[in-house]
Amino acid sequence: MLNIVLFGPPGAGKGTQSQKLIARYNLVHLSTGDLLRSQITQGTELGLRAKKLMDEGLLVPDEVVIGMIESQLANNTTAAGFIFDGFPRTVPQAQSLDALTQRYDTGVSCMIALEVAEEELVKRLLERGKTSGRPDDQDETKIRKRVTVYNTETAQVASYYAQQSKFHGLNGIGAIDDIFGQICAIVDQHQPATPVADSQAATDEVKA
Ligand code: ADP
Repeated sequence: MLNIVLFGPPGAGKGTQSQKLIARYNLVHLSTGDLLRSQITQGTELGLRAKKLMDEGLLVPDEVVIGMIESQLANNTTAAGFIFDGFPRTVPQAQSLDALTQRYDTGVSCMIALEVAEEELVKRLLERGKTSGRPDDQDETKIRKRVTVYNTETAQVASYYAQQSKFHGLNGIGAIDDIFGQICAIVDQHQPATPVADSQAATDEVKA
């Protein structure tokens, strides 16, 4: 399985690049932000509790998002792989993702971090807020709060993956297609091993 963690602060472009990756690699997109917003739309108890935190730019509790990811993995056992967007956001979430994927004899293939400076993030999110309808994108104080939460609570997830040699940082400022090309170059190094017959054929080709 090809399991990609797409990482970066709010507004870094994770959602945009996720859509392109899904199409190229035939992956299932798991965005905890989207899953939470769907709970809010459905008016569930969980959605009501999450909304208060999300509107303030705070993280929802680990057990809530871990539970959502757990059920999504269970519902998609035939997937070619997953793209995790906005998850994990804390080290306990990253540890749980390792444990959950192990149940299916798989794991995180690579983690790609889109790096964008705060002023650009604020500009992008205020622009997105004009059309997204998301209350957390319409108020500069809330946006800056999310960036602070990212810097204090989420950024350390990068070290977790660096320790496993899975971390790849990319500049998230530039043309969308250029950034996508750089992401694909990284993903292609982490594709699951090709079947033995194919790799033998490839070796023969190189020798010839
Ligand atoms: P953005 O990346 O623009 O902040 P998301 O849609 O990923 O947007 O997340 C929106 C909000 O949902 C976050 O600010 C947070 O409150 C909540 N959320 C999403 N994913 C997680 C997560 N993995 N852990 C905790 N809270 C989360």
